[in-house]
Amino acid sequence: MIRSSRGLAAGLAGLGLIAVLAVAAPLVWGGDAAHLSGAAREGASGAHWLGTDALGRDVLARTLVATRLTLVMTLSATAIAGTIGILLGTAVWVAGPRVREAGLRLIDVMVSYPAVILALAVAAILGAGTAAAVVAIGVAWSPAFARLTANLAASVAGRDFVAAARLLGVPPHRVLVRHLLPNIAEPLLVLLSVAFAGTLTALSGLSFIGLGVQAPSYDWGALLNTGLDALYTNPAEALGPAVAITLTGVLASFVGDGLAAGADPHRIGISGRLKKAPVPVAAPAADDGEALLTVAGLRVSAGGVDLVDGVSFTVRPGEIVGVVGESGSGKSLTAMAVARLLPDTVTADAGALRLDDLDLLAGAAPDRLATEIGVVYQDPAASFNPALRLGGQLTEVLRRHRGLDRRAARTKAAEALAAVRITRPEARLRRHPHELSGGMRQRAMIASALLTGPRLLIADEPTTALDVTVQAEILDLLREANRRDGTAMLFISHDIGVIASLCHRVLVMYAGRIVEELPVGDLVAGRSRHPYTRALLDATPRVDAEGDGELTTIPGRPPAPADRAAGCAFASRCALAMPKCTEEPPAAISLGADHRAACHALDQKVEENAS
Ligand code: SF4
Repeated sequence: MIRSSRGLAAGLAGLGLIAVLAVAAPLVWGGDAAHLSGAAREGASGAHWLGTDALGRDVLARTLVATRLTLVMTLSATAIAGTIGILLGTAVWVAGPRVREAGLRLIDVMVSYPAVILALAVAAILGAGTAAAVVAIGVAWSPAFARLTANLAASVAGRDFVAAARLLGVPPHRVLVRHLLPNIAEPLLVLLSVAFAGTLTALSGLSFIGLGVQAPSYDWGALLNTGLDALYTNPAEALGPAVAITLTGVLASFVGDGLAAGADPHRIGISGRLKKAPVPVAAPAADDGEALLTVAGLRVSAGGVDLVDGVSFTVRPGEIVGVVGESGSGKSLTAMAVARLLPDTVTADAGALRLDDLDLLAGAAPDRLATEIGVVYQDPAASFNPALRLGGQLTEVLRRHRGLDRRAARTKAAEALAAVRITRPEARLRRHPHELSGGMRQRAMIASALLTGPRLLIADEPTTALDVTVQAEILDLLREANRRDGTAMLFISHDIGVIASLCHRVLVMYAGRIVEELPVGDLVAGRSRHPYTRALLDATPRVDAEGDGELTTIPGRPPAPADRAAGCAFASRCALAMPKCTEEPPAAISLGADHRAACHALDQKVEENAS
């Protein structure tokens, strides 16, 4: 929503008057403007306020009459620049990565070519004339438009709601119209008003040098040209069109500045590339035969650096598997690789990536992917499109993938909101996301993710941005969905306490690898074995802790992906580190049912026990 300002009001009022003048002037003063009086090049007088031109025609009348052609040309050129620029600038963000790269480079090349030279080149090709001038200026302004539109679209294309739309199988043109354009509409309006002022000046310039409007037609630029001949004898003849151009340009700038100042500051990659890994991979711990989700040897990399390094695990039907680790451990990238929502700059390969019989590596059927996997993101504010009402966003997937009509989809959406304990669900469907509280938005996101009855729900830090009370409500809702519908979940968190309270099984990740996998019962009973898992637990506050409840911290920081050593990545922070730890990476060893860990110290103990 754009807020009003004095400048904006003055600009709009001024341009409104000029628009009225453009319509009325040829009807009212058209005769005076064409009348040949024989009083050539007379100075300003009571009869001719701005004097007469070389053929004795009234200059003021001609200036007023020229308003219509000047405005029509300016609006047309702005429309051409806007249409080409907006289409090009947004299309690159809904196209695939290769087309995007080529499109952005093309825009860069176009922008680097001076607009004036481009306009003159196009005008020279098309020849002098009104239409040629409009096309030339429209084309010349389009690269700047495309560049800015691409920048604006980039800020929206990476948002969660765009990723969610892609997961739901929304086609590119609909992502463009429904999700990108509404969220960059305000800055584009600002840009259009700036472009209007720019094209007005440029078109007047072309007419002034004789490449624009040709006699007997005339615009302000052409009048300025003829007025210049009498600059020393009757300066008023040039003054009229000059003032008209300046005044209109200034009013358009007022509108642009007003829109920019009043624009809502809150309004302002996608399907990652997955391929089959050519290398043999370690088998997941759980029996593949009973797995709903199978991930084997998943490797996620960016710029030649592995961010996730050969991760293997399974999720059984109805099971909640938690993934825990510090920032940068690769837990979210692992989850997003499963949902096929990695940024374009990131690539992934795996030996196997399967949801039951659905091969996620083989470009899984969009309909099945959209309905069988649900995603809940960390930031409830970024999860919904701020430009659309909740109802439209919730019903989209039902209408698209379940074939429901508008009424049935709305009823089901309202039921889904009621199921996550949102009061007055029908009324909430008519609200925009910003009209809901943070906790309510996250509950609505859960309702949205569960709408199609997915078999797997991926929850990426869904409680991190919420306060403790709301956090408990969200965990309750997830438990309830799991119990009621048997929905399996992959729950990502950096908080091992939250993981322990919700999940059945835990994957502990460090520096892109799973270092320990164990049932949550073992975790709670203190049977975790890996030094990193133990350090995480020691650093977690417990309200039932005995004694002084002193917390320990894990010394140092996880290594950056490019700096990971050849051996165990935790070696520089581990109290049990030994020479072997920096030389070779530890392999995972089994420590019981569903329990395994990768640590040389455990390896040694197993050998000692055996001997
Ligand atoms: S492998 Fe070595 S450094 Fe790594 S956790 Fe085990 S003991 Fe520590």
